[in-house]
Amino acid sequence: MTTERDPEKRQTAEGLLLSVGDSLSAIQREVVACRRCPRLVAYRERVAREKKREFRADEYWGRPVPGFGDPNARLVAVGLAPAAHGSNRTGRVFTGDRSAAFLVRAFHAAGFANQPTSVRRGDGLAYRDLYLTAAVRCVPPDNRPTPAERANCAPFLERELKCLAETRAILALGAFAWDAVREIVPRAYAVQRPATPFAHGACATLGPGKPLLWGSYHPSPQNTNTGKLTFPMLVELLQGIRASYSPGPTPRGSQP
Ligand code: SF4
Repeated sequence: MTTERDPEKRQTAEGLLLSVGDSLSAIQREVVACRRCPRLVAYRERVAREKKREFRADEYWGRPVPGFGDPNARLVAVGLAPAAHGSNRTGRVFTGDRSAAFLVRAFHAAGFANQPTSVRRGDGLAYRDLYLTAAVRCVPPDNRPTPAERANCAPFLERELKCLAETRAILALGAFAWDAVREIVPRAYAVQRPATPFAHGACATLGPGKPLLWGSYHPSPQNTNTGKLTFPMLVELLQGIRASYSPGPTPRGSQP
């Protein structure tokens, strides 16, 4: 797993941060090895065997997809689940499909990514002040995990949130992720379950000293092709989220 600062290397260089990196690394390893949901295990492996014609020369990942990003992130973005021929193929969250292209271009414009593209593992992408993960780690048929599958996978996100000690904002990408995060935050932060309904730009307060929970429409082609979610809408939201915890000028090189 590539991160902007490799957790294993940070052990010797930065002492105290060692346990954070190590714990995230442990979660990432457990995620990749997980076979808890029989329906999703069978589906992810079938998709990886059968492939899409366009990607028939690729070796699909076909396993659960772990989180990726800056261990010291103040923003944690949460998606729904891997896409069949996106991250289930490439092995990195929001990588290799049209949703990823839209989202990562916006992260770059808002100063959270070092490049505007997310094509494959090892393509040089690094997030700064951002950790990107998902509510469910295996591709579900029709993009619809069952409630039991979501519950099976929830402990991974809960543990990530507990490890990401600098978190000031959680951004749920879509209504499914919003509901999943609302279920998890009481356990992750010892707070009440927020009642705020999902909307693009919705913001729920978890309590003093706790992160804010933000909502965005999911960057799926269904939303971006219809104009329900536009590029300026997403960049503006990302910049507003950063301003909520870090008032001041937008990072150099960022373009609205
Ligand atoms: S969805 Fe989550 S809990 Fe279920 S098999 Fe995949 S990684 Fe494991």
